[in-house]
Amino acid sequence: MRLPPGVASADFSAALEQFEAAVGKQWVFTSDEDVDLYRDSYSPFWHEQEEPVPSAAVAPDGVEQVQAVVRIANKYRIPLWTISTGKNLGYGGSAPLLGGSMVLDLKRMDRILEVNDKNHYALVEPGVSYFDLYRYIQDKGLKVWIDPADPGWGSLIGNAVDRGGGRTPMRDHFDAVCGMEVVLPDGELLRTGMGALPNSKTWQQYKYGFGPYITPAFSQSSLGIVTKMGIWLFPEPEAYLTGTVTVPKRDDLKPLVAGMAYLLNSNIVMGTTSVGSPLNFMRADPQLAALYAKPGGATTEDLEGFLHSRNIGYWSVELPFYGPAKVVQAQWEYAKQRFSSIEGVKFQDGKLRRFPIDPAEVPSFQNSVAVGIPSLGVFGVGGARSNGHIWFSPVVPMTGEAVLEAQKVFTDAYAEFGMPTGPMFFLGPASNYARCFLILFGFPIEHDVEKNKKNRENFMKIVKVAAEHGWGEYRTHTAFMQTVSDTYSFNDHSLRRFHETVKDAIDPNGILSPGKCGIWPKRMRKATA
Ligand SMILES: Cc1cc2nc3c(=O)[nH]c(=O)nc-3n(C[C@H](O)[C@H](O)[C@H](O)COP(=O)(O)OP(=O)(O)OC[C@H]3O[C@@H](n4cnc5c(N)ncnc54)[C@H](O)[C@@H]3O)c2cc1C
Repeated sequence: MRLPPGVASADFSAALEQFEAAVGKQWVFTSDEDVDLYRDSYSPFWHEQEEPVPSAAVAPDGVEQVQAVVRIANKYRIPLWTISTGKNLGYGGSAPLLGGSMVLDLKRMDRILEVNDKNHYALVEPGVSYFDLYRYIQDKGLKVWIDPADPGWGSLIGNAVDRGGGRTPMRDHFDAVCGMEVVLPDGELLRTGMGALPNSKTWQQYKYGFGPYITPAFSQSSLGIVTKMGIWLFPEPEAYLTGTVTVPKRDDLKPLVAGMAYLLNSNIVMGTTSVGSPLNFMRADPQLAALYAKPGGATTEDLEGFLHSRNIGYWSVELPFYGPAKVVQAQWEYAKQRFSSIEGVKFQDGKLRRFPIDPAEVPSFQNSVAVGIPSLGVFGVGGARSNGHIWFSPVVPMTGEAVLEAQKVFTDAYAEFGMPTGPMFFLGPASNYARCFLILFGFPIEHDVEKNKKNRENFMKIVKVAAEHGWGEYRTHTAFMQTVSDTYSFNDHSLRRFHETVKDAIDPNGILSPGKCGIWPKRMRKATA
């Protein structure tokens, strides 16, 4: 049996018996066969000793059981790593950051406590997946949309607390959170926002409650275990319309993004959209390859000329509009006006969709997630990723200038590190979060120790390159949390020192998610930081 770090075998056996008494024998997993299911299937440490494998897992079915588990973990100083549905692929899956931690698996807590389609919110437990909530809403004929992440098997809570993103107007998932119930590291139960008021009538309507607003402290956090969460939903709109804007020249990106920023920041466009260039996906084209192979590489004029000869624009963006049919059509017309000063701009009207949608129409959507219908279709995109990938995901300003700079900086870095710049390069930049772009790069995972080592080195280097340019990661794989945390270093790491002060005060035994986001409990800090 694997052991948690620093826990004697006899103590661990005693603790396991107590966990079994608290949650039922069948819900404590200790066999390698069971525990291996919690390993990260996109691990960058395949076949290496360093892979952080859990010691055991425990799956409580209610808040009192979570509290009991936490109290036992405190007694024996057993580190716990919380998962809701444990599908955090690309960012660590269901595996802990610290090998030997016990996984606290909340999948059994899968109750949908309320869905309100008059004031548009839900209250859910951690094990509720996007598919679960979608089915519930459909079965009851409620007029609200969820906002799924691309893979619909994840949970509303796990995704939101990791500050994940979707595509509809509720796309910033943590921003949509309203009120939490949290088990603290000592087993105490806390409700945030209006939940602190007994019999509150507005726990899911008013976020802030009274006094310091503490809900965000439980996102990307090792300060508590979220056992209930309110989340705002989008009222089913009358219609959805997309319109595509295409511009011919490289530098047209600047007015294109300026127009996007205006439309997004004034809530005319409210969903996720991303700027793309067909060049990223045409590298196999012989004519293009010949241009890139020229001494000195392809010039901007070469690339613009090549695209012009094929009647393809340099950049394009698909704008999503949600609302009454008349309004979304007017919004698209207004957007066209704003871009009309760009010479050579072209517009393509998308199909107007009306809701409720006929189920037979769903397959005709390129991505049903944009209209609140969960899917696993994303796994069909880019079949080459069969061993998985980890995400490098820096946040950059929403300007054309910044995107062009990022493109140059990362292309140069990829070349310097000897990394391929194929279609996996430069997914985005996307507007999942207000007023900035998220750029997603997939780093492939291999079942090859040397290749993974090289990829890990490159990942750490590229995080530093980004930080040198003022671009930080929004979220990262557990393997790189220390690296990313190291880049958030203003004033000699005053933010991390503050996090550590809070961590020490409320989790003195250091049992919750040690090392998450670079925050270690005091007893482990010197050895690891
Ligand atoms: C191809 C592909 C596409 C993806 N697309 C997207 C996307 O569009 N948007 C997106 O956001 N992500 C995306 N992801 C990443 C990931 O799959 C999703 O974010 C997924 O929803 C996270 O898994 P989960 O919901 O099961 O969360 P979990 O794995 O359960 O948890 C996620 C994190 O939150 C913590 N946590 C979980 N539950 C709790 C709790 N109750 N209390 C305290 N902390 C907790 C965990 O420790 C972990 O760090 C994608 C991944 C892949 C492979």
